[in-house]
Amino acid sequence: MSRTNENPAALPPDYHTHNTLCKHAEGLPLDYAESAAHNGVPQIASTDHCPTDDRYGQEHRMELEQFPLYLERVRTAQQDGPVPVLLGIEADYYRRCERFLDRHIERNNFDLILGSVHFLNYWGKPSELRTLGSKDVDPEIIWQRYFELIGELADTRLYNIVAHLDLPKRFGNPIAIERLREYALPALDRIANAGMAIEINTSGLNHNPRECYPSLPLLQWACERGIGLTFGSDSHHPSRVGDGFDVALQLAREAGFQTSRHYRQRSFTEVPLPKGT
Ligand SMILES: [Zn+2]
Ligand SMILES: [Zn+2]
Repeated sequence: MSRTNENPAALPPDYHTHNTLCKHAEGLPLDYAESAAHNGVPQIASTDHCPTDDRYGQEHRMELEQFPLYLERVRTAQQDGPVPVLLGIEADYYRRCERFLDRHIERNNFDLILGSVHFLNYWGKPSELRTLGSKDVDPEIIWQRYFELIGELADTRLYNIVAHLDLPKRFGNPIAIERLREYALPALDRIANAGMAIEINTSGLNHNPRECYPSLPLLQWACERGIGLTFGSDSHHPSRVGDGFDVALQLAREAGFQTSRHYRQRSFTEVPLPKGT
């Protein structure tokens, strides 16, 4: 397939894409690579939801036995796709996830690992604080607990990039900025200490908050701490690759970022942000 974008360096890489194996997305990694070329995105990472050996969140991810098939499909995209395709994974952080994830990362030659917290306590009973959308719970408690887990995620040193850093806003959870700051800063310090990046995730533009993850203040606090930056559409359909990246680039500049990170084999280089229009 031919490239339709004349200036592929105008957008940053899209380091957050899914595919049909996770049970709630469409398309193969190759479809995402082809869509990237069509949408002017110079490079993508395939980062489907990582399987585990304990069936954590199994309804949202590939079966562990399907992991070799995932590798095969990413390899096909790398060989036949019109843009470079990195091998990544989006792995949930939860207590004791390291037992499996550590070995899984060691055994596979990943270019990057996205780290996410999608649940406060997936194994919890319905009466316990289990989800980011728990009703009848003070939103402050949700944010506080969430950022504690993000801090623990960073401390594992297993991940390269924190995905959708303020995900609780997807479920409402209004919070005063002073409180957000109080809970987020210790987590951001731990992310900085781990040498990690965060992503601007444009899927929020289509969710309830109608804004990218994370919000401008969080990006500013991250930038002040020297935390790196990547961009991700979190696309679950090939057509969304690079979606909203113009908005995301503007947000990155507004927050003070001048570079974003390009990863390869879990190392990165800082690359100047594409010139804005
Ligand atoms: Zn997903
Ligand atoms: Zn996610």
